[in-house]
Amino acid sequence: MQHQSRMQQTATPGMEVANGMIFFRKLIEPGCAPEETAEDPTTLRGKVAAAKLPEDAQRAAEAEIARMEKTDPSVAEYAIALGYVECLLSLPWSDMAPASFDLDGAARVFDASHAGLGQVRERVLEHLAAHALGASRPFSLLVVDDEPIARANLELVLRREGHHVEVAANGEEALRRFDGQEFDLVVSDLKMDTMDGQQLLEAIRERSPETQCIIVTGFATVDSAVRAMRSGAVHYLTKPIDLDDLRAAVADVLRGRRARYRMRAPLLCFVGPPGVGKTSVGQAIAKAMNRPFVRLSLADLRDEAELRGHRRTYAGAMPGRIMQALRTAGVRNPVFMLDEMDKMGQDARSDPAMALLELLDPEQNDRFLDRYVDLPFDLSEVMFIATANDTSRMRGPLLDRLEVVPFAGYSEDEKADIASRFLLPRQLREHGLVHPRPVVADEALRRIVRDYTDEAGVRGLERELARLCRKLARLHMEGHAPLPAGLDAEQVTALLGPARYNHDRTGGGQHTGRATGLVWSEKGGEVIFVEVSTMEGSGQLILTGSLGDVLKESARIALSHLRSTPDVFGLRAVPFDRLDIHIHIPAGDVAKDGPSAGVTIAAALVSRLAGRPARADVALSGELSLGGSLLPVSGIREKVLAAARGGARTVILPRANAPDVAHLRATVQRLPRIELVGSVSDALEIVLAPAAQPATKGGLDA
Ligand code: ADP
Repeated sequence: MQHQSRMQQTATPGMEVANGMIFFRKLIEPGCAPEETAEDPTTLRGKVAAAKLPEDAQRAAEAEIARMEKTDPSVAEYAIALGYVECLLSLPWSDMAPASFDLDGAARVFDASHAGLGQVRERVLEHLAAHALGASRPFSLLVVDDEPIARANLELVLRREGHHVEVAANGEEALRRFDGQEFDLVVSDLKMDTMDGQQLLEAIRERSPETQCIIVTGFATVDSAVRAMRSGAVHYLTKPIDLDDLRAAVADVLRGRRARYRMRAPLLCFVGPPGVGKTSVGQAIAKAMNRPFVRLSLADLRDEAELRGHRRTYAGAMPGRIMQALRTAGVRNPVFMLDEMDKMGQDARSDPAMALLELLDPEQNDRFLDRYVDLPFDLSEVMFIATANDTSRMRGPLLDRLEVVPFAGYSEDEKADIASRFLLPRQLREHGLVHPRPVVADEALRRIVRDYTDEAGVRGLERELARLCRKLARLHMEGHAPLPAGLDAEQVTALLGPARYNHDRTGGGQHTGRATGLVWSEKGGEVIFVEVSTMEGSGQLILTGSLGDVLKESARIALSHLRSTPDVFGLRAVPFDRLDIHIHIPAGDVAKDGPSAGVTIAAALVSRLAGRPARADVALSGELSLGGSLLPVSGIREKVLAAARGGARTVILPRANAPDVAHLRATVQRLPRIELVGSVSDALEIVLAPAAQPATKGGLDA
């Protein structure tokens, strides 16, 4: 229920601007609709001339203005042309946030807004360092020519373009330059003594296959050009060199290199349950890089046109959300969060994933084509960051482009720490509770975490703290000043009202035919209960609780294992072929699939069939093999944290998960007792009490 209400809140249409950050939800504003009043063609022409648009955009804008001049302003075409020109004017074709980055500064920005994200912090700082190095490194060029004047001229021209340039007077010297360093590009004369350009090119290809070559010659023949290109030269220029041709050829090579560099640089995809800081880490990255932050929610986006826009010929056409976000960012190098990528839809006619693939492809994204804008736009400087709750719902090609950075749920200690250092001070500030600033005791914060939230992240916690601050603000305004200096747990409870969650969900005690399990879902870990009842019948297995296929298979595996080894579990007397067995897993809003409930199902079955009560405060997770071994499962941290939230005292996990458990123990202080076991029979010895009575009736008395 909590999650439902959260979704309703985030479905608010429109755009939010907060803390200088721009957020898009469902955008409903009409495209690049003019912000100012309509312009006449003459003013517009002046604006276009002053705007320094790229050539093709300028031409397109002028053509539309010419059309406006010939059209009556009351006619629809006039408004369409006007809207288009204003859209072109509003896009950041060449505006860039100035490059500014230092690693220590980035670490400070991160630490000033986040706690408890050790591995994420390291990964993000590495990413930023690699990005900054790649982006700032000048390209290194080697000019090889035996004519000193030609060499010096080329060196001068290419240095002026901002490249690092070295020179060599012949092929041998050029090859020596490759000792201990690499060049992005070699510009070499063809005719040289001892080793000509062709031979040099072949030698370079062996030494440094990534280096590209441009061949220059004063004796151009078709034959020499063909040979040079065959040996791998990317361009062939004739002397005297036309400088524009040279610049264009070099720019072309370097554009390809940059794209290849970006291809190798991974795109980060923050994956984790809601409220664990994915968005706020994205914001911190933008702040550290001094760039605007824009966020585009992809949840439920089905139509590619929403991303890529509609052609202008359609009535009411507008650019897609990508270009709208860019326009709002005001620069073409923002940090751009593609949020909830795993929730993106697809319908029969169009697949938005195709547009995303293009967007994220460095070979193509410097010419991204929005259908409305109808001109290529360079998105190659945008830093995209994707987020998802669950990557298993994402399709292969998209996932291949992304490097997953997992965000884990927080323990109770971590939540209390985040609350006291970040969430509470922020909420107090936002509610004007600064003089005097109320103090909330640590124990009171823990009480809020435990009794008023039930989540892997801290979004609900932040909401509860906001609620507390509203109550305090009201008290203050009603004249109950001074505000309580140090709120203890009892005062907090008095203000917030009855607890919302029972943190002892497992309830303790023992139950016959019911075992406590743990599942992982996109919201984090959850406690579930597996119930088994039996009735006279014909050996049928009934499974209910909206179970996925893999979970249903786990139930069959558990039952087969018990039936095949009845003596191990005291089930020799159970008349399986005269029993119907019903397995039910309540909690309809928890997605239930995957193999990890196998051992829990086995525990509930044996509990019912052998009449051995199961301890409710022992939670199990483990995949069962047909032979009864416990196979490792995923999501250990989320599951154990969920067990702790639910009041479990012991958690039983497969022995093969020992490394995950060691890591968890190293990072979280207070954990339930964790038992690592290798087989289902060992697990059942811990969770099941000895038989209350002989199971002679085979569970028929359920
Ligand atoms: P997500 O994008 O993962 O759903 P958010 O980034 O929106 O989560 O986080 C929800 C709130 O919790 C934000 O106010 C965020 O600043 C705060 N928050 C989450 N994790 C941390 C953390 N580790 N340290 C400080 N604040 C955090």
